Amino acid sequence: MIVQNWWLTTLLQQKYELCPPLQKDISCDVLIIGAGMSGLSAAAEFINKGLKVVVLEKNILAGSSTGRSAGFLTPDSELELSQLVRRYGLSGANEIWEVPVKGIEYIRKNVAQYNITCDFRIQDSLFLGIGKSGWQDVQDELKCRESVGFTNQELYNQQELPSIITSSGFNGAVRYDETYGINALQYAQGMKTVLREHDIKVYESTEVLKIEDHTAFTHAGSVKAEKIIVAIDKMSASFDKLANEVFHAQTFLSVSEPLSDKEVLTMFPNDQFQCWDSTLVYSYFRLIDGNRLLLGGGNGPTTFLPNAWYHEDVIAGVHK
Ligand SMILES: Cc1cc2nc3c(=O)[nH]c(=O)nc-3n(C[C@H](O)[C@H](O)[C@H](O)COP(=O)(O)OP(=O)(O)OC[C@H]3O[C@@H](n4cnc5c(N)ncnc54)[C@H](O)[C@@H]3O)c2cc1C
Repeated sequence: MIVQNWWLTTLLQQKYELCPPLQKDISCDVLIIGAGMSGLSAAAEFINKGLKVVVLEKNILAGSSTGRSAGFLTPDSELELSQLVRRYGLSGANEIWEVPVKGIEYIRKNVAQYNITCDFRIQDSLFLGIGKSGWQDVQDELKCRESVGFTNQELYNQQELPSIITSSGFNGAVRYDETYGINALQYAQGMKTVLREHDIKVYESTEVLKIEDHTAFTHAGSVKAEKIIVAIDKMSASFDKLANEVFHAQTFLSVSEPLSDKEVLTMFPNDQFQCWDSTLVYSYFRLIDGNRLLLGGGNGPTTFLPNAWYHEDVIAGVHK
């Protein structure tokens, strides 16, 4: 096993220009601090709006969570639709669901409009029941999806499962569409080119240390701006008073060696789904560029302990 960020390796397939750090004092109309999916999407909204826009990112663009993401473009999260409905009622769940649906559409539109190479693929979802409550969980999910008006989903029981996934570990599944896979780091670096072509100034390796009087100060320069959008992660209290109320959660990814077409067909005899199971700290897998299988997850303690770090044992448990 090689311990490294696989997505960084995939950047070597393309030509991206590194944007040097800010080293002077400048001013603009809109400053965006942090360029993960949020900051990038904010910046893209200002394309052709006639404003002077600057982006400051302390890493490379998407060098934090976005560039490490497993790239499941789906409105599903730790909570399935049925669980959202249980907790927030139908209209509350709908409202929450609509946010990622719009985000996915936005990303999809950008990939097509700007012709961004980022292993974007249509990848139907397979929500897999596991353990004692697994079969009930997938049936609940199916019922819920039907009750909110989704029409394109299918339920598989344990006997039917081998025709779509070759594993004896699951006891049922729901399949549905309008979900996609993406290499989010390549997407972000592609969007960097788009932003720069539209005269949006991007500075990488540029950490904002403080904001005072409409001015963001970095190690070697500053930006004075009429409006400042903060889209950073791991907020400190100096940026946001609610910072201490955000709790830590993390997940761990692995990427296989390339599989042969035969191996892929053995695993997915019907379609190459993106899959995850019905546990709270769920395991997930999908095929990515080069016939590699991305597989991720974790366990209870390593998901929520802030100082838990990548260890082969964690991913070995997920593989099992
Ligand atoms: C391993 C992993 C797998 C995931 N898988 C999925 C998935 O399959 N599907 C999904 O939808 N979500 C997934 N997620 C979650 C998803 O990646 C995040 O929700 C999303 O990327 C958050 O985007 P963001 O722009 O809010 O934050 P980030 O991507 O973290 O962006 C914030 C940016 O701000 C920068 N920054 C921070 N402080 C400063 C500062 N002081 N000055 C300048 N810049 C600063 C950071 O370097 C960073 O680039 C995954 C996350 C991880 C870690």
